Amino acid sequence: MFTITRRQFIKLAGSGAALSLVGMPWTVQANSPKIVIIGGGIGGVTTARELIQLHPQLDITLLEPHPVYHTCFMSNEVLSGERPLESIQFGYEFLQKRGIRWLPVPALAIDPVTKKVKIPEGELSYDRLVVSPGIQFRWDQIEGYGKAVSEHLPHAWSAPSQVALLRQQLEAMPNGGTVIITVPPHPYRCPPAPYERASQIAYYLKQYKPRSKVLILDAKDGFPKQQLFMQGWEELYGFKTEHSLIEWLPSQEGKVLRVDAQKMAVYAGELEEEYKGSVINVIPPQMAGQIAIDNDLSDDTGWCPVNKKTFESSRHPDVYVIGDACDASQMPKSAYSAHSQAKVCALAIVASLKGEEISTPAYLNTCYSVLGKEYAISLSTVYRLVGDSIAPVEGSGGLTPEQASAEDKKREYLYAHSWFLNFTQGIFGGEL
Ligand SMILES: Cc1cc2nc3c(=O)[nH]c(=O)nc-3n(C[C@H](O)[C@H](O)[C@H](O)COP(=O)(O)OP(=O)(O)OC[C@H]3O[C@@H](n4cnc5c(N)ncnc54)[C@H](O)[C@@H]3O)c2cc1C
Repeated sequence: MFTITRRQFIKLAGSGAALSLVGMPWTVQANSPKIVIIGGGIGGVTTARELIQLHPQLDITLLEPHPVYHTCFMSNEVLSGERPLESIQFGYEFLQKRGIRWLPVPALAIDPVTKKVKIPEGELSYDRLVVSPGIQFRWDQIEGYGKAVSEHLPHAWSAPSQVALLRQQLEAMPNGGTVIITVPPHPYRCPPAPYERASQIAYYLKQYKPRSKVLILDAKDGFPKQQLFMQGWEELYGFKTEHSLIEWLPSQEGKVLRVDAQKMAVYAGELEEEYKGSVINVIPPQMAGQIAIDNDLSDDTGWCPVNKKTFESSRHPDVYVIGDACDASQMPKSAYSAHSQAKVCALAIVASLKGEEISTPAYLNTCYSVLGKEYAISLSTVYRLVGDSIAPVEGSGGLTPEQASAEDKKREYLYAHSWFLNFTQGIFGGEL
C-alpha cells in the first residue's frame, strides 16, 4: 500500500522532511516523554499540534508515508469541477518548525508490551502511542468488486487518484448516461457524504449533460439530513419529477449484492435487479485501518474499542485510538469528530504523564453538505460522556431549518467554505 523506497526516505531525510534523524534542536531532552503518532491525517496531526501546545517538552514523532495529505472533505466539489484537486492538498513542512518530528514512512507493527513501533528503518520506542490510521475497505463484501476493479469503477472514498479518476469518467460519459453511486451500511466514513456527492454530480450533469441522472443504490432506508437533502434535490434537480437528475433507492431495491465490471452493471435489492451505469461509483463497506486490525486494536466489529473519556485502547494500555478507526459510540466518523477526539486524547495523554485525570470532556461535530451553487445545509451536535458512551446533548447544536430561505442556504454555503479554510489552516497551517 505504501510505496516509499529506502532511496526516497534518505532523500526526504536529507531535505529536512525527516529532521528527526539528526535530533531535535528545541526543548526535547533525553528524558522527554516519547510520543509516537501513527497517521498524518486529521486525527494524527491535530493530536500532534495539541500535544506540543500543552506540553512543549514532549518528544513527538509522527509517522505518515505520504508527503501530501488530501482531504476527503470538499472532494465532492472536485468531482463537480467546482474546485481544483490542488485546493484539497496539504503538506507537512510546518510540523518541524513546531517541534514535531515527521518521518515519511509507514508504521509496520506495534509491540504494546515492549512499547515499540516497527518502521522500515528500525523501531521507535514510545511512552504513549496514538493510532489514527483512518479506514480501509472490506473488499470481500460485494461480489465482483475488489481493489483491482476499483481502478475501473472507482470508490473515490479517498483522494487523490480515485477522485481524479471518477472526475475523468464523469467528463467522459455521454449526455443521457446514468451515474450509479452505491452506499454501504453503517458505520462508514462520513454518513452524509454520498448524498452530497450525488448532489454535486447532479450539479455537474445539469450544466453539461442534462439528459443524464444519478442513481443512488443504498444499503440503508434513511440517511442524515434526509429531509433537507430531498428538499434541496426538489428545488435544484427536479427530484420526484419525471426528469429528476437524482433517484434514490433504499435497501429493498438498492442494497448492492454484486457488480459486473464487464457489463457495467450493479445487481441490487431483494429481486437482484440489474442496473446499468455509464459510470459506477461503488463505496464499499469499511473497517479500521490495517495497522489497527493487524495489531489487536480492533474487535470483531472491525473497529477499535476505546475508553470514551480518554480514547485509550480498551485492549492495550498507553495506546490511544482516535478518528474513523475508533468506536466513538454515537459520534459519526467525520473530520470534525476526529479533530474533537484528538483534542480530548491530547489532554488525556498529558494528564496521564503527570499522573492526573482529565475532567469529563465534551465533544463536537459539525457537518456541512454543499448541494449546489450557493446552496448548503448543516448539522451540528455537542456530545458528552454518558456512562461509557458518547451521546448527543439534548437540545444542543442545530440543523438548517426546513423553512430556511434561499439567502440562508447561500449563507450556509459561505460558512461551509469558510469552515474548510479555517479548519484546514488550523490543522495544516504554519501557526499554532
Ligand atoms: C467524500 C467525503 C467527504 C467528506 N466530507 C466531510 C465533511 O464535510 N466534514 C467532515 O468532518 N468529514 C468529512 N469526511 C470524513 C473525513 O474525511 C474523515 O472522517 C477524516 O479524514 C478522519 O480522520 P482520520 O485521522 O481518522 O483519518 P485520515 O484523515 O484518513 O488519516 C489517516 C492517515 O493515516 C495514514 N496511515 C494509515 N496507515 C498508516 C500506517 N500504517 N503508518 C502511518 N500512517 C498511516 C494515512 O496515510 C492517512 O494519511 C468526508 C469523507 C469523504 C470520503
